[in-house]
Amino acid sequence: MKDITPDNIKTFIGLIEEAEHPVVVTHAKPDGDAIGSSVAMFHFLNMCGKQDTYLVLNDNCPRFLTFIKDTVPADRLVIRDGNENEAMAHIAAADLMICLDFHAFHRTGALENAISESKARKILIDHHLDPDRTLYDISFSQNDISSASELLFWILMATPQINGKAENLPPESAAALMTGMTTDTNNFGNSVYPSTLNMASDLLRAGVDRDLILQKLNQEHSESRLRLKGFMLKDLMKVTEDGVAYMVLDRKAQFGYKMQEGDTEGFVNEPLSIAKVKMSIFAREGADEIRISIRSKRGTSANRCAKLFFNGGGHENAAGGKLHIPVSEVEEYIIKHAHIYMTEYEK
Ligand code: 5GP
Ligand code: MN
Repeated sequence: MKDITPDNIKTFIGLIEEAEHPVVVTHAKPDGDAIGSSVAMFHFLNMCGKQDTYLVLNDNCPRFLTFIKDTVPADRLVIRDGNENEAMAHIAAADLMICLDFHAFHRTGALENAISESKARKILIDHHLDPDRTLYDISFSQNDISSASELLFWILMATPQINGKAENLPPESAAALMTGMTTDTNNFGNSVYPSTLNMASDLLRAGVDRDLILQKLNQEHSESRLRLKGFMLKDLMKVTEDGVAYMVLDRKAQFGYKMQEGDTEGFVNEPLSIAKVKMSIFAREGADEIRISIRSKRGTSANRCAKLFFNGGGHENAAGGKLHIPVSEVEEYIIKHAHIYMTEYEK
């Protein structure tokens, strides 16, 4: 944890103590780690006496994460999508901005300009590749960690307020951090480090109800979501000769299966269960772009493929991006570029 030094923790706490209007932000289309880390930060700021704190999200969070989001009082949470003016006003009024789970401002979607123009002091807490540290008063960034939630956990543990005892965390922060780490590791399926298990153990000992979290995450979906998954794996998934599986989900099918935001979370991992599949690509038609999710097995770089051909990036084995072409052309695009990628860049 090279950035978690006594000096950096002092600066971190100093910035919080000086702030009067802190705002917490995370990436657009928030996932479990984004919601978990930002909600945990919100409650820690409250614990530090920062009552005038706002959590500003670019988009609403998926239904399966509402149990974490709802621990933030409704009048302290602003979702830009639908409350444009309010969201921008809070960002403009911030004197401290805590940026969680993204490496570049463009990952915050429509909040990008407001955040980059903001004169607030800024703190980065993230686990993606290549952050621009010069944009922040202090940055905590490392890749060899499970999640932004885990990095935040170890930062908070190093503060005088928490003093190395997870039971000193606000209970809402503890549950949110466990949730973010659990979703980013696919429930301890990837990116698990010795520190990750130590964190889980500390949080369990502090009383976090992991069984309840798993129930909320995995057992409260709609019937149509599971039927959509069946349809995608049976009818949409194709596997190329290079060992690339892909699925293209258009708006018509999303409508037919009453798909809600977040319903397809994790589906991209399923094709990796096939021995010959080295990489899985999932394309989903959105309102104004095609969203791309890529997962790869060890030895194949989802990050590089996303950067080269899908206008994105991420982590070595889990990345994302976007395309701006008609959905009818997506399959051909994927077949062509996955082949180029596997034969020319991965050998
Ligand atoms: P997901 O497939 O779950 O949407 O995204 C997986 C990972 O890819 C995310 O944790 C994030 O690091 C990265 N990612 C997703 N979308 C984008 C994107 O549009 N641009 C970049 N640079 N990274 C992305
Ligand atoms: Mn993350």
